[in-house]
Amino acid sequence: MKKSVLITGANRGIGLGLVKQYLSQGWLVHATSRSLETASDLQDLASNNADLIIHSLDVTNYEQFDQLATQLPSLDLVINNAGYYGPKGYGFGQTDVEEWRRVFEINTIAPLKLIESLYPLLKKGTTKKIACVSSKVGSMAENTSGGGYIYRSSKAALNSVVKSLSNDLRDEGFTVIALHPGWVQTEMGGPNALIDTTTSAKGLFKVIEHSSVNHSGEFINYDGTRIAW
Ligand code: NDP
Repeated sequence: MKKSVLITGANRGIGLGLVKQYLSQGWLVHATSRSLETASDLQDLASNNADLIIHSLDVTNYEQFDQLATQLPSLDLVINNAGYYGPKGYGFGQTDVEEWRRVFEINTIAPLKLIESLYPLLKKGTTKKIACVSSKVGSMAENTSGGGYIYRSSKAALNSVVKSLSNDLRDEGFTVIALHPGWVQTEMGGPNALIDTTTSAKGLFKVIEHSSVNHSGEFINYDGTRIAW
């Protein structure tokens, strides 16, 4: 039987790169997008590939999660990829509280709530893996330049979620990891970023494939090196 993965925010950027990568490796891919009508790249891929199933999911609409779970028999891997940077160019003294709440909803709360809903399906899977796409800018050790209060804090809190999940689910054989995808040419990463989505997705695939319960609770770069919390 094919291994199955669910990827959020799969209509563009790194998420779409991951969809292509997992399909190329023979996986059954459940790809989610909050706006299927505009997800034309994903729709085109799905029309040519029976192993790609697309689902509508706004990751801040937690009520949709249990409904999604009833549509799937089991999952081997969930990749929490959907993310939002929030307002750019605002520093100390200009904190937009509403936007901070929104970024936290998407980057921090949604990944945990989704895993709470999909946990029974992951338990039925063979590999029991959870990967959260975090960011190096969420690392305390790497923060030498300040700023980025909203995005940094949301990813630092996501890292904390990963750590707790890894401890809570370790005895059941789960591997839970936080990933840095590199600085990637996407709408979020911008045109000056260092790598393309294919390079990032290939690297992330390899890292997830090579991870085992012994790596649970680690923060890993797309090239396989560890990142300090
Ligand atoms: P993009 O901005 O290109 O894509 C973001 C994706 O998240 C889109 O599919 C978007 O959907 C989706 N998304 C945003 N909000 C929601 C929501 N409420 N519900 C469902 N989906 C949502 O970003 P990237 O591909 O660059 O980023 C992917 C992940 O990688 C993020 O978690 C990001 O924080 C992380 N990352 C990226 C880096 C980079 O250099 N690019 C560096 C470090 C980390 P829609 O199209 O509908 O808006």
